[in-house]
Parts: sequence; C-alpha cells; structure tokens
Amino acid sequence: MIDPFTYLANPARVIFGRGTLSQVNDELKALGIDRPLVLSTPFQEDAAREAIEQAGLAPAGLFPGAAMHTPVSVTETALARYEEQDADGIVSFGGGSTIGLGKAIALRNDAPQLVIPTTYAGSEMTAIVGQTESGRKETQSTLKVLPETVIYDVDLTLTLPREMSVTSGMNAIAHAVEAMYAQNANPILSLLAEEGIRALAGALETIANGKTDDIGARTDALYGAWLCATCLGLGGVALHHKLCHVLGGSFDLPHAETHTIVLPHALAYNAPSVPEAMERLKRASGSENPAGHFFDIAKQAGVAVALEALNMPRDGIERAVDITLENPYFNPRPLERAPLVDLITAAFEGSRPQ
Ligand code: NAD
Repeated sequence: MIDPFTYLANPARVIFGRGTLSQVNDELKALGIDRPLVLSTPFQEDAAREAIEQAGLAPAGLFPGAAMHTPVSVTETALARYEEQDADGIVSFGGGSTIGLGKAIALRNDAPQLVIPTTYAGSEMTAIVGQTESGRKETQSTLKVLPETVIYDVDLTLTLPREMSVTSGMNAIAHAVEAMYAQNANPILSLLAEEGIRALAGALETIANGKTDDIGARTDALYGAWLCATCLGLGGVALHHKLCHVLGGSFDLPHAETHTIVLPHALAYNAPSVPEAMERLKRASGSENPAGHFFDIAKQAGVAVALEALNMPRDGIERAVDITLENPYFNPRPLERAPLVDLITAAFEGSRPQ
C-alpha cells in the first residue's frame, strides 16, 4: 500500500537525442533569445566555438571563463560582458561549472537559460546555485536559476574521459539512491530513481571497460544521468550525502571521487532498513548485491575505491564520525558510533561491501 506523500515537479523543457545541437536556434527563438552569451570553461573553448558553428548560432559573444565552484569574481566579469554585449539570454555549454556560472548570472538578472550539458553532474535539473567568495561556498535554492530549456546531445559526451564519466556517473547514482529513502521520498521519484540507475549503471559498466565511444552506452548514460539529476533537484538526502560533505569539507577531498568511494559503504549500512529501495536497486543493477556492484564498476574503471588513495589521514576516521554524529541528517537507519567507524574504515581501506 502506498503511504501518503507530497510530490513536487520543476518546470523544464528537455530535448534528448543525438545531433540535437541542430535544434538550438529554434529553441532560442522559442525562448525569445536573439543575442545569447555563450558560456564555457577555458578547456572547452574550442568545443564551444565548434558547437556555435555547427548550430549556426550568431551569439552576442562567447565567455570561456567558467571555473570550479562558481567564484563570484568570475560571475561579475561575465555579467559585465553580458551587459556590454547587450545579450538577452544565456547558452551554457559544458558541465556543472559552466552551468553554475549561467545560474549565477540568472540569479542577478533573471536571464533565460538554455543549457547544453556535456557531463553527468546534473546541475541543469536543479534550482540550486552554489557560489564561492573569500574561500567560502554558499548555496541557495530559487526557481530564478532553474534553466528554461535543456538540450541533451549524446554526441557531445563522447569526449568525456572514462574516469570522469564513471565518477560523475556514480555521483548521479548516489542522488537517485538516497532520493528513494530520504525523508521526502515518494513513489514517483522512486520510479525515476530506479529507471535512472538502471540506465546509468548499465552504461557505466561498458564505459568502465574502456568503451567510451559506445553510442548505446553513452545514450543510456546521459538518459540515466538526466533522471538521476531530476532526483537531485526534487529529492532529499541522507547518510551518504552527510558523510561526503563531512569528508570533503574536513579533508579537502574531491567531490565526485569521494561520492564514488562512499556510496557502496553508505548503501550497505542502510540496506537492512530500506527493503523496498533495495528491491528496486537489485532490479536496477541486475545484482543481488547492488553496493558490491557499484564498487566493482569503479574498480573496473581504475578510479580510486579507497579514501586512503585520496590522501585522507587514517586518524581522520574517528574525527569524521564525531562530526557526523554532532549534527546528523535524517537517515532511515539510526546512526550508531561503532558501525559508523566500521563504515568509514571500510571506505578508507577500499574493501568490497558484502
Ligand atoms: P566541470 O563542469 O567542472 O567539468 C570538469 C572539466 O571537464 C572541465 O574542464 C570541463 O570543461 C571538462 N569537460 C566537461 N565536459 C566535457 C566533455 N564532454 N569532454 C571533455 N571534457 C569535458 O565538472 P562537473 O562534474 O560537470 O561539475 C562539477 C561542478 O558542478 C561542481 O562545482 C559542483 O558543485 C557543481 N554541481 C552543482 C549542482 C547544482 O545543482 N547546483 C549539481 C551538480 C554539480
């Protein structure tokens, strides 16, 4: 029987497929944008120029200065460029860093955004913007920053390296996993989460084996990443996200890699308390041990499976447990010190969860 629930949806127009870049002009027209400012990172400047040419765009300009964690100084420079060039909308071409810059501009001037994601990070489906100033990252949530239109073009993801594909994909899977048992879980989000994990985890197995140009796998991966991103935009979080925030913040660990290492262990901890989610995860992963399955995909891709490999100190294990217990998030299984020490020790050493 279904328990009572509240369901929320974010408005979004999504175009999905191969070669969808050719639809950018029509989609800009539909948004009333004549002179977009195109955003990218310095690394993707050439790819962005190529995309502009391929799509037959006549932009107000290209700002190839997007950086990790959306520094406010970069946003101010981009905003000045937007005004100087009399732009009337944004095209974000890239991953979470570029999309974050577009959101930060929209936060200030309500510019309409068309986003063309090229990673699996999922920022395009959320109304969240994180910004960094004087070394501090602050996050806020407002529909003002939610992109109006998202164009997923599978062809643009073929260049994403194997390791980054797997870690950012695992990060996306972690959002879907926790959405199934977070405090605001509901049956619609659980459907999206199960389908997103099925498509993405299956595709990551192929990509982890080095077949980074397998069109079928890339298509399924991007489709799954979109659904998992929707879970991130609408769902809640639990122990896994708490641990990643604590570990990332306390020991300056890289975001997607930390999620990839912690997910199997956080899931193994919660498994006895979330039987329905575990049934969904077994179906989605095609394995009786979904936690072990996620661990195997990471190992196969050659990415780090132990926090030790990210240079976390061993004496940080107890400290991480202390911080986690000081101000815990909601979690379906009560948080207890001894099993939490075991969990982080297993993640530190990189042992496969049973
Ligand atoms: P990223 O955008 O920083 O990209 C990493 C590097 O990969 C960049 O140099 C980029 O140019 C390059 N790259 C991107 N796509 C490529 C491709 N197809 N081929 C080759 N290289 C490519 O990384 P990310 O993981 O997409 O995003 C991480 C950032 O996004 C973090 O700051 C995170 O906090 C943020 N984020 C925010 C939200 C949100 O809801 N606000 C959600 C997820 C992530």
